[in-house]
Amino acid sequence: MKEFSINTNVYFGEGSLDRLNEVKNKKVLIVCDKFMETSGVASMIQGKLVDCETYIYSDIVPDPSLEIVAAGIQKLQSSGAEILIALGGGSAIDGAKAIREYAKKVSGGVSSIEEFYAIPTTSGTGSEVTEYAVITNKQEGLKCALADKSLLPDFAILDPALVKTVPKGITADTGMDVITHAIEAYVSNTATDFSDALAEKAVTLAFRFLPRAYNDGNDIVAREKLHNASCLAGMAFNAAGLGITHSLAHAVGGKLHIPHGRSNAMILPHVIEYNANLSKDTLKVEYNLAAKKYQRLAKLLNLRAPNVYIGVNNLIRAIVQLQTTLMIPKTFKQQGIDMELVKAAREEIVNAAINDICTTANPRETTKEDLLKILDKIME
Ligand code: NAD
Repeated sequence: MKEFSINTNVYFGEGSLDRLNEVKNKKVLIVCDKFMETSGVASMIQGKLVDCETYIYSDIVPDPSLEIVAAGIQKLQSSGAEILIALGGGSAIDGAKAIREYAKKVSGGVSSIEEFYAIPTTSGTGSEVTEYAVITNKQEGLKCALADKSLLPDFAILDPALVKTVPKGITADTGMDVITHAIEAYVSNTATDFSDALAEKAVTLAFRFLPRAYNDGNDIVAREKLHNASCLAGMAFNAAGLGITHSLAHAVGGKLHIPHGRSNAMILPHVIEYNANLSKDTLKVEYNLAAKKYQRLAKLLNLRAPNVYIGVNNLIRAIVQLQTTLMIPKTFKQQGIDMELVKAAREEIVNAAINDICTTANPRETTKEDLLKILDKIME
């Protein structure tokens, strides 16, 4: 028996922030970063709430640490908040998820939070609909994914007006995160018809609208479609899991501090090649399911895919081409990372990746040696 459920109510499209008008006479904590506070977005959100007492915790930074979560718990407790609003990219949403979860644990399993709203301001992680929260252990340079249904927000609000300010570089990185989520969920060894439907829609929307959103941040149609794609991809991987692109990206992010979506973009083409496990002898080979599904994706993207071999290779080419269009580096060297640092961290990255929760859903059984070979392809 298998199960599929979506537990978060999703409000989307222009004007969807007005859903917040239904929050009345409550104590509210908004969890965000400094940019959301200083740019006035947090006060705009505050203005939508009706007769509420609002507190803001704006210490979130990219890849939030345990210390930031601990300080957030204190803020939550001292505010006595009944409503929690996560406002920002994956970092703010994950931070808020962990704050709520750990605050509940230290209060003996009782939470003051009646409703949890996630309002993404990047189109990337899909965290607003996932049961994951990625928190960084700074001392050990490790990103750890908490996973529990209780982390799921009650409401997600996808208002494209909030993503218009995302700069080109972050639009590119986070957009590639969407594509990676959709593709990894699609070939995951726990994919189902339900997760496939979500992944297929997400990947076609993202391929079509990411270049448009990148070229013109004010293109509200492209922003809305990419925002929806991000959420659909989140639903897909929440149901099906991810794969070793993410395992490596988490480890690379923790050790080398490369933005999450950018790490994914650099690694993804090599993981597709590895998972498809193509043989040059196209006449004799029996293709694995992942290879056939990559071909199906190529067809959906209107790429030439008369057979599995050509389909997989054209999918890889299209991703690399998109990376070029979006000015995303393809190697650590191009990213400007000190190569001595990379070489020193190489073993630790692979050790962290092999134990990452995402490795279990990868369609091809993976060894540390395999991961090292993939990593070596993005060195120089
Ligand atoms: P982010 O939240 O770290 O934000 C990146 C930068 O974008 C920040 O400087 C932020 O201030 C800025 N920013 C955000 N919204 C903006 C806007 N509207 N205008 C201008 N600037 C804006 O980036 P992210 O990629 O959204 O999140 C990455 C984090 O999410 C990583 O820690 C990653 O591991 C995690 N993640 C979580 C999940 C999940 O399911 N929980 C899935 C994938 C990734």
